[in-house]
Amino acid sequence: SLSDTTNEELITYRKKHLGKSLSLQYKVPIKMVRGSGQYLIDQYGKKYLDTVNNVAHVGHENYAVVKAGQEQMALINTNSRYLHDNINQLAQELIETLPPELNVLHFVNSGSEANELAIRMVKAVTGERDIIASEVGYHGNANMCIDISSYKFDGNGGHGAPEYTHIFPLPDAYRGKYRGENTGEQYALEVQNCIDEVHKKGRKIGAFIIESIISCGGQIELPNGFLPKAYEYTRAAGGLCISDEVQVGCGRVGKTFWGFQLYGVTPDIVTIGKPLGNGHPLAAVVCTQEVANKFANGMEYFNTFGGNPVSSAIGAAVLKTVKRENLQSHALEIGEFLKEELQKLAIKYPIIGDVRGQGLFLGFELVDNNMNPLADHADYLANRIKDHGILMSTDGPDHNVLKIKPPIIFTKENAEELIFYLDKVFAEDYMQSIKEI
Ligand code: PMP
Repeated sequence: SLSDTTNEELITYRKKHLGKSLSLQYKVPIKMVRGSGQYLIDQYGKKYLDTVNNVAHVGHENYAVVKAGQEQMALINTNSRYLHDNINQLAQELIETLPPELNVLHFVNSGSEANELAIRMVKAVTGERDIIASEVGYHGNANMCIDISSYKFDGNGGHGAPEYTHIFPLPDAYRGKYRGENTGEQYALEVQNCIDEVHKKGRKIGAFIIESIISCGGQIELPNGFLPKAYEYTRAAGGLCISDEVQVGCGRVGKTFWGFQLYGVTPDIVTIGKPLGNGHPLAAVVCTQEVANKFANGMEYFNTFGGNPVSSAIGAAVLKTVKRENLQSHALEIGEFLKEELQKLAIKYPIIGDVRGQGLFLGFELVDNNMNPLADHADYLANRIKDHGILMSTDGPDHNVLKIKPPIIFTKENAEELIFYLDKVFAEDYMQSIKEI
């Protein structure tokens, strides 16, 4: 049976029979067999502290969430054409957390499906298909999503931006086109430039889409004033504003429940994914009554699995857990502690060029004295800290950003343990070697 196979055999089989573009984490891949809270456990019983998984939002195999799924699965699971309390309850749990204007829900099964539907809504509501998105943005794996994801079409195997996609520079106040805290207006003018370009072609824009903290871009917080201005310009041109909350949503950023609320804006459409099902495939598109009414133009939207009683039970249990256990304020408290500790580490180790993020959605960037990215050092760090039982991931256009986005039940002791081992790895010869170059 498969359970008796070695990791080498699993890898060989995967390479031959699973999709050829699937990747594996780590130079020496790990076989995880259990999840528990903020930990993953491999086949040898080794326990890893997980700083990567923002899907297991309220903890791997959270008891209340697992129980809700198991109980509902034993009763009934059907599509949403039958009445069921669970789907209404999940809608209600979500609506409680959102601004009052955003109160219509469509349930789907992945972040990609959510963004795919959001763009369909844009086309139905505005009649336009030109979309403005950020450089190095990622919005999912479906056709439309790839078409608006610079992270993909500007990377390996990509062919650049399609005709109807308009990319503005990554609003990175640290190493981007404009640098410094007060660059929001300059980046917003880049969005205006995209709008002008579309107008020059005799067309109009459909929407502006962005994550509230750009994850694949390297945990980029949007500079002061950027989002309100970008929304203003988009709306003045007749476009809709979409907030992709697939990574950052559901209380993770601490100060607010949703990332866009950090900047005082209200989108027309919000897409929600990963954390909503805590690992179960569940995602959602939230919109205003106006958008929902125009989208319902006679063509039915049907989704076989979206919002089924099992998924809905799970989603409601996740949101109830976040609320009952005050995990949003917990994410704020632990995130701020961890960020301060990382800032202290950045003083000790100057190769940490920037520490950023909100709540438990943090990142730090490795650079040399001239602010050149140190991708090899980031890769070394992620692989080395694994030996100390800690999982970390890298990202950003130059692969030099370490991302920290653990289950939000992460404790102060977990943060201290992470700092302790980061300190240990940063002190190693390899991490120090940049100074001698
Ligand atoms: N949007 C963002 C910001 C994402 O990070 C992702 C997934 N990494 C998606 C959308 C797509 O979600 P999924 O993989 O669930 O389809």
